[in-house]
Amino acid sequence: MNRAAQLEQLRQCPRWDILIIGGGATGLGAALDAAGRGYKTLLAERADFGKGTSSRSTKLIHGGVRYLEQGNIKLVQGALRERWTLLRNAPDLARPIPFILPVYSQWKRWYYWLGLKIYDFLSGHLSLGHTRMLSPEQVIQHMPAVQRRGLKGGVMYYDGQFDDSGLCIALAHTAIQQGATVVNYVAAEGFLYENGRIVGATLRNQLASQETFAVQAAAVINATGVFADTLMQADNPRHQPVVRPSQGIHLVIDAELFPGQHAMLIPRTTDGRVLFAVPWMGKVVIGTTDVQVEAAVEEPVAHAEEIDFIIQNFNQYCNAQLRRQDVRAVFAGLRPLVRRQGVQNTAKLLRDHTTMVSDSGLITITGGKWTTYRQMAKEVVSKAAAQAQLPRRPCHTRHILLRRPDKEPSLYAEHGQPLHPRYAYTEADVLHAVHSEMAVQLEDILARRLRLLFLDQQAALEVAPRVARLMQRELGCTEDWVSEQITRFTNLAVGYSIAGEARSAASHD
Ligand SMILES: Cc1cc2nc3c(=O)[nH]c(=O)nc-3n(C[C@H](O)[C@H](O)[C@H](O)COP(=O)(O)OP(=O)(O)OC[C@H]3O[C@@H](n4cnc5c(N)ncnc54)[C@H](O)[C@@H]3O)c2cc1C
Repeated sequence: MNRAAQLEQLRQCPRWDILIIGGGATGLGAALDAAGRGYKTLLAERADFGKGTSSRSTKLIHGGVRYLEQGNIKLVQGALRERWTLLRNAPDLARPIPFILPVYSQWKRWYYWLGLKIYDFLSGHLSLGHTRMLSPEQVIQHMPAVQRRGLKGGVMYYDGQFDDSGLCIALAHTAIQQGATVVNYVAAEGFLYENGRIVGATLRNQLASQETFAVQAAAVINATGVFADTLMQADNPRHQPVVRPSQGIHLVIDAELFPGQHAMLIPRTTDGRVLFAVPWMGKVVIGTTDVQVEAAVEEPVAHAEEIDFIIQNFNQYCNAQLRRQDVRAVFAGLRPLVRRQGVQNTAKLLRDHTTMVSDSGLITITGGKWTTYRQMAKEVVSKAAAQAQLPRRPCHTRHILLRRPDKEPSLYAEHGQPLHPRYAYTEADVLHAVHSEMAVQLEDILARRLRLLFLDQQAALEVAPRVARLMQRELGCTEDWVSEQITRFTNLAVGYSIAGEARSAASHD
């Protein structure tokens, strides 16, 4: 993956079959799908791949136990099928993980066992392991920090887990291998029309050159997540917003505070939702919340109330009481939920996706889940191809292996110095991300190629100057660039710290 080469392809190609705007799960999935079918495909992401919601998920590949409780069998079944496909196609990035739901009353033990048996049954022959009941002793053995007082046992079941921003890079890389042009830091600013129909878009390089491109495309897909309305309004100033952003946050703590290989599902929080505590990359990720926010922002920040909510609910199920100072990092993301008439509470809005076609032909896809990105991509590419009267071709993504670019052994032999004494990341990882994974800003490395900002905000700040210097050497940047990157990253990192409470009041509904 080389950004200069991708930009050159963008300059050289006079006309594309499909232009995709937005480089999160949905857009990258669509780029891979379209390129895999042989369409001439361009994807433009205005920031970095996965900068939006797609790096801020709970990192679960799941049918959604909660949606089962809501009776949405079709959504659950479709997602369970996709769970299996993703685990098979991205073996380096995704794995099955056992969950335990601890229970404190006998009848609930049966209730949850039955529910999770149905969940397992719905996955049919694609099951990852059988749901079973556990005694209190077995729960404690697997999950030593669980609240023991009143524990009646537990239910064990299986789901999938993955590295979300890692999968974004794997999708971008694989799409490029399939013939797509995929570029980060290029924003769509407006559309090109002929006789009232969209025939392309104007794009601008967001980095130093600010170069603009007038791109012709037979079909244009808007896959900008919570920002979908902005492009729909650019296309039609009378457009009424369809996306309702809902914020969810996660706290990250050291694994010693909640040891074990099993994730915990807390079945009912004080606001009637579920909460997960999941081992991930040597830490434990706890989340999430569901808070309606008025406007979509690129860098959402956790509210103080959301942090308290997670700590309180987690502590009810945990022997060792978590304190605010135990939190190594906080991250917030926005769900692109689709508005429904008469539904105010975002927790009640369906996690299903929606595809819309405007009068001018702009195709917008939003909503959904990471787990179902492939299915969403298949649907939107078929729609785009039909609308643009491109030759009809079948989707191949069910069988395309997803991998990040290979690591050069020589790089790892020569630059094995660790970046931080507590973490396994090395200088070679930084160089690899610059050479082969299109990392161009300090944040790209520390937040999404390596996950240090999401794992340990303080450690990320400590290594930032060294990483910026390594990048400067590789990219040939100036001294000013180094200090500007460090300042920008330091400001960004405030929002990932428990202390960074420039946090406004939340409206839990
Ligand atoms: C808290 C939380 C937890 C979640 N947990 C899970 C989970 O465990 N499992 C699961 O399956 N799903 C989960 N999800 C849902 C999942 O993360 C989202 O459905 C998915 O990431 C949405 O991807 P997207 O590509 O539609 O949006 P995004 O990832 O937001 O991508 C949109 C992209 O468009 C870009 N963009 C915007 N405007 C422009 C423009 N003008 N030009 C170019 N680019 C532009 C943005 O920079 C952004 O990168 C979770 C979501 C949240 C918020």
